[in-house]
Amino acid sequence: MNKINSINRRKFLEIFGYGCCSLILPTCTTAPITERRQLSLLSENYINRQARALYENVKKKTVMSNDVATLSKIKQIGLKIENAVSWYFKSVDQKDPTANFRWEYILIENDKIINAWCMPGGKIAVYTGILKITKNDHGLANVMGHEIAHAVARHSIERASRSLLLNIGTSAADIFTKGAISRTSRAAGIDVAGMLRTFGIDNPFGRKQETEADYLGLIFSSLAGYDIRESVKIWERMAEEHKGQEPPEWMSTHPSSKKRIENLKKWVPEIILNYPPIKFS
Ligand SMILES: [Zn+2]
Repeated sequence: MNKINSINRRKFLEIFGYGCCSLILPTCTTAPITERRQLSLLSENYINRQARALYENVKKKTVMSNDVATLSKIKQIGLKIENAVSWYFKSVDQKDPTANFRWEYILIENDKIINAWCMPGGKIAVYTGILKITKNDHGLANVMGHEIAHAVARHSIERASRSLLLNIGTSAADIFTKGAISRTSRAAGIDVAGMLRTFGIDNPFGRKQETEADYLGLIFSSLAGYDIRESVKIWERMAEEHKGQEPPEWMSTHPSSKKRIENLKKWVPEIILNYPPIKFS
């Protein structure tokens, strides 16, 4: 039994884990096996509904910042990136993966957390802690472009599908198959942080997915009219912030700052040239 499992698992990884997701999303979704798995196990509607329930919980259980000016800036930047994403998929004659998104933005008051995320369906959170790293609109746009790219490329769905099929991460499987989020949301004392981790939001994606999100994020941010050279500076500031410390857990499966900065430096000039800011008439 074990032997069969391990063979299947390896075979599956060959098809799904390694064969899926080149830098541009549509390649991934048109890979027949991947598409079948995603569609049969986890519909986008279902995942987005779960994400919305979790997002509502986050709003209830965490402290929202009352920095109205920054939140409105986040929404402004977000709107430009939303438009850039839709424009991009139209321009390559692909179905807009964000067509069913219900975009929403929150700013969470927590100076210790240097993070931001975007849940499936376009539910975005920025923590006040990352503002000292992003520093300006362009920095913020680069971080948001990256996070939005994870959702656009449906990385959470990919990860959840993989967990289900490999029968690992059983708590994730539980959530995705039995609607535990909506159930627990009614219970008192809900552990939002734990649920975010289980849901795969406040948790590192794999290296390949991170690299993909970096690349797509640059494209979206550039199309939205932001200076993507700032992405390099963000990672330099991030490295400086963690100098002399053990990297935080979430960074350990991210590409190293050094590798990431190398990639970004390589991509930035080419993307600025090929994806200049969209001129909406
Ligand atoms: Zn990421």
